[in-house]
Amino acid sequence: MRRLLLTLAFLCAGAQAQQTLAPGVVFVSGGFEAGRQPDGNSLLLKGDQGWLLIDSGRHRAHTEAALSAAGGELRAVLNTHWHLDHLGGNAWLKSQRPDLKFWASPAVAKSLAADGWLDRYRRQLVEAIPTAPPEQAAVMRVDLDLLNQAEALRPDHEVPAASLQTIAGRRLQIGVETAVSGGDLWVLDKASGTLAAGDLVTLPVPFMDTACPPAWREALARISAQPFQRLVPGHGPVMSRDDFKRWRGGFEALLDCADQGLHPGACAAVWRSRVDRWPDDAGRARVNGMLGYYFKTLLQAPTEQRERFCRRP
Ligand SMILES: [Zn+2]
Repeated sequence: MRRLLLTLAFLCAGAQAQQTLAPGVVFVSGGFEAGRQPDGNSLLLKGDQGWLLIDSGRHRAHTEAALSAAGGELRAVLNTHWHLDHLGGNAWLKSQRPDLKFWASPAVAKSLAADGWLDRYRRQLVEAIPTAPPEQAAVMRVDLDLLNQAEALRPDHEVPAASLQTIAGRRLQIGVETAVSGGDLWVLDKASGTLAAGDLVTLPVPFMDTACPPAWREALARISAQPFQRLVPGHGPVMSRDDFKRWRGGFEALLDCADQGLHPGACAAVWRSRVDRWPDDAGRARVNGMLGYYFKTLLQAPTEQRERFCRRP
């Protein structure tokens, strides 16, 4: 809940934009608009049987934009992980298109189960909404409304391990990591050289709310070894291979700086020196506040707290 309230303080403008990256590969950008929680980026891939949507956003406007970009031929949805800015749109999509098939890691069902992360979050929202200021209550209600449709957020197909899958007729290499949420899928479309990284790559900072940083370093090494030309991050603009290399260098430098016990402000400056070319002004303005929060709650927290997301069953 503290994270939710903190997020509300980082207000900025943003909007969905749509971009064809290659034949049959369409990017729908997420956003982080004033007074709202974010939507993650989405990617559409066209197979022989129609379109696959990777990540469904949180807000209706984002999910509608993704559905309309598929021109009525959406066949399947894959969620990279269970954070609501990538999963929440499933509920509305299922209500519109009951025949859609949903793919995700087993961590989605775990987070929705009794006493899983999303189930606890739902109870916190129920408790907090009656006494929250009206604007914050409205933001919280968006998530509560999604979590009250928990059954519609569950996948039809689970991807428990790295594997080759054909979804909507498109052949994909899927990787399974644990670093960000306990079950993070990345998807390599070899035909176009496009890799959808989910929140294993984000801007303006790495989102570390439920992260295990050492596992994250290993996941990025595995992604690095894949033959992609462009990478779609969970948040932020599409990256070239060189862009990703630069981003990863910043990530490693940020973690090294934190591990050496250096001041969060100094480490934020190191991060900014590597990635400053990407975020807009609003994104840049959020870097220090967000990193300061992650240093306190995770990166430079007492050992027990720092490793709490590294012990997921
Ligand atoms: Zn996200």
